[in-house]
Amino acid sequence: MQKSGSTDPVLNGNDRPVIINDKWCKGCDICVSFCPKDVLERPEGGKARVARAEDCTRCGICEIMCPDLAIRVMPAGVKEKQTTGSQGGSTHAK
Ligand code: SF4
Ligand code: SF4
Repeated sequence: MQKSGSTDPVLNGNDRPVIINDKWCKGCDICVSFCPKDVLERPEGGKARVARAEDCTRCGICEIMCPDLAIRVMPAGVKEKQTTGSQGGSTHAK
């Protein structure tokens, strides 16, 4: 008897105002620095995460400032759908 508890580690909690793509985040700390509400935090050596979602005003600054497009600010009332690897464009510019 198995439980089907499939919680996506990237979209952990689909009612969050801010979604951070853990695969794209490089931990540069820019979003943490620019957030006027101190919503985001980044553990040393880690990646950005939403620490105080209830304080987020959805101003969009973090999404604009992230150089890796790793942040998505969700409009109020919109729930993030789980995307199941439908990306087909990985480019390796080297
Ligand atoms: S600005 Fe983007 S890449 Fe940098 S820590 Fe924030 S989410 Fe990660
Ligand atoms: S949308 Fe604005 S308040 Fe919310 S996490 Fe981003 S910068 Fe902070």
